[in-house]
Amino acid sequence: MEDTKVFKRRDTIIVRGPREEDDPTTGAHRIPIFQTSTFVYENADEAALAFQNMFENYVYTRLGNPTINFLEEKIAFMESAEAGAACASGMAAISTVLFSFVRPGDVVVTSDPLYGGTHRFFKLASETFHIEFRYVKAHIMNQGIQDFLDENVKMVFVETPANPTLDIVNIKRVAQETKNAGIPLVVDNTFATPFHQRPIEFGADIVIHSLTKYLSGHGDTIGGVIVGGKDEIQRIKGEVLYDYGGVISPFNAWLVLRGIKTLAVRMRKHSENAMKIAQFLKDHPKVERVLYPGLPEHPGYEIARRQMENGYSGMVSFIVRGGKEAGKRVLNAVRLWTLAVSLGDTDSLIEHPASMTHSSYSSEELKEAGLDEGLIRLSVGIEDPDDLIEDLDQALRKA
Ligand code: PLP
Repeated sequence: MEDTKVFKRRDTIIVRGPREEDDPTTGAHRIPIFQTSTFVYENADEAALAFQNMFENYVYTRLGNPTINFLEEKIAFMESAEAGAACASGMAAISTVLFSFVRPGDVVVTSDPLYGGTHRFFKLASETFHIEFRYVKAHIMNQGIQDFLDENVKMVFVETPANPTLDIVNIKRVAQETKNAGIPLVVDNTFATPFHQRPIEFGADIVIHSLTKYLSGHGDTIGGVIVGGKDEIQRIKGEVLYDYGGVISPFNAWLVLRGIKTLAVRMRKHSENAMKIAQFLKDHPKVERVLYPGLPEHPGYEIARRQMENGYSGMVSFIVRGGKEAGKRVLNAVRLWTLAVSLGDTDSLIEHPASMTHSSYSSEELKEAGLDEGLIRLSVGIEDPDDLIEDLDQALRKA
């Protein structure tokens, strides 16, 4: 049956797009979890035909599955991309992208800092696969990346907002230069989600996500995704993902699909709460500096205002007076905030990047990346913000 419904506005796109899931044979309103490893054929000719075009037919779940494919279609639609490839985790998405564009001897220009796991993987790739990484701070990237490009650079990778400093890269500016140089711009959009930011609309070629975070939204699954042009995604699947094998399971894909239904309402609340908490922290005597792109004093505020919409997401970092030891005292004193890594959960999470998510950075690298050892990262949940503020206040008084 042809789908005649039009999904125009953001909330409708997220809840209903790109098409209804209804199964005309059973009347099921939600897409089932196709929990199968393989698919059967009537005869040898039909089987051979299916294998000739694995992108269009189901043959084996590592190569395609209806639940997984619907998730890929949905996120591609939300990100204004043509196609998607769902992966086992955000890191599976990042490693798949790297091995799709880069070979030994090639160079990657990347924003700095990055999520600690990405940084650790890039270190491994540099030591084991002889790929060079040029780390460039957001404020330098925003003045142009020409000086960092040469014929060996085969990919530019940026995280914006960055984990954990919330640095903002001007996607449009960087995309103009990568286009001129004929190399792909890959954006990790995990912190913003397509509710707040769609990098492809600013010229990025590939967007990746850790689906573990806001898109699934309930802290109960692991997943990742790569979206981009149809030909590029088919190449990434055919040349890397199918055989490296880091695909998502049908059950996890279904959990992410369920989480996405409420993405718009959750992100509005995450953002509202985060803004209130950032404003509270800004005036707190125990706080040296707050990092939130929604505050006008944030160095990336003007760019964030132009490339993000409906708010600035739910991640807030701050530097507590008294450094690492004071930070530890805050983590030990909170009662409502949960001491845990990960982010984008309904519950509010608190962590200390230098000793947790970013422990792969040496002291020198922390300094170079502008990552203060007293920095605390908050993933603001959707609880009542006053409860969150009261708890932070009592904990900060003990810092
Ligand atoms: N990208 C960012 C910005 C992240 O914060 C994370 C994880 O925290 C990842 C990628 C990796 O995702 P995953 O843990 O799903 O592999």
